[in-house]
Amino acid sequence: MLNDKLHSYIEKLIPNREPLFIEMENYAIENKVPIMELAGIEALLQLLRIQDSKKILEVGTAIGYSALRMAEALPNASIVTIERDLERIQCAEEYMSRSKHGKQILLIKGDALEVEEIVSGQAPYDAIFVDAAKGQYQKFFEMYSKYLSDNGMIITDNVLFKGLVAESEIESKRIRNLVKKIDGFNQWLMNHPDFHTVILPVGDGIAISKKKR
Ligand code: SAH
Ligand code: MG
Repeated sequence: MLNDKLHSYIEKLIPNREPLFIEMENYAIENKVPIMELAGIEALLQLLRIQDSKKILEVGTAIGYSALRMAEALPNASIVTIERDLERIQCAEEYMSRSKHGKQILLIKGDALEVEEIVSGQAPYDAIFVDAAKGQYQKFFEMYSKYLSDNGMIITDNVLFKGLVAESEIESKRIRNLVKKIDGFNQWLMNHPDFHTVILPVGDGIAISKKKR
């Protein structure tokens, strides 16, 4: 998102992760799983540390990378995370069982738009991390912002979509439609009457939304 030189400068400064995380990062590259970028996840973890989040909801587990990183960074937090893809669920379960941080995580298997009842049973959440199908961000936000604690925040990933949100000429119709959706979501979110939101150009772009009081 920043220029390439600065981006790799920042990435090089990030300390090494434990071996299991490195293994997961390599698995993600090899199998094209869109786990959070290094600088992006560091920003997310730091926000959670500052808040001292105790209960976190994640929409989009994939292989459990961000969930396990959150669990490691916040040993007193419990994490509820949702994933619908069977292969990724299996992979996440395996990694969670191999990690000493796995016990902090409850994995809900299903479509995030169909498991509201289970999710609400664990509410309220100090932080909600939205990192799933980009076309449905507004639906996720509307469904789950109800379960945020008074001091809660919602962090949404990929809101700058590789910079494409600022691009006017995009050939692929599918990508063009997705960009339109993300841009629509960003505009909706920035003007939401109940939230203060800032978009930071870190990783793939994260939006940080805090409930107004
Ligand atoms: N947060 C992860 C990456 C998530 S990638 C990390 O950084 O490690 C996005 C994941 O969201 C994919 O695995 C995809 O299957 C899942 N997903 C997309 N839409 C979903 C939905 N509606 N319900 C549940 N999972 C969904
Ligand atoms: Mg993402």
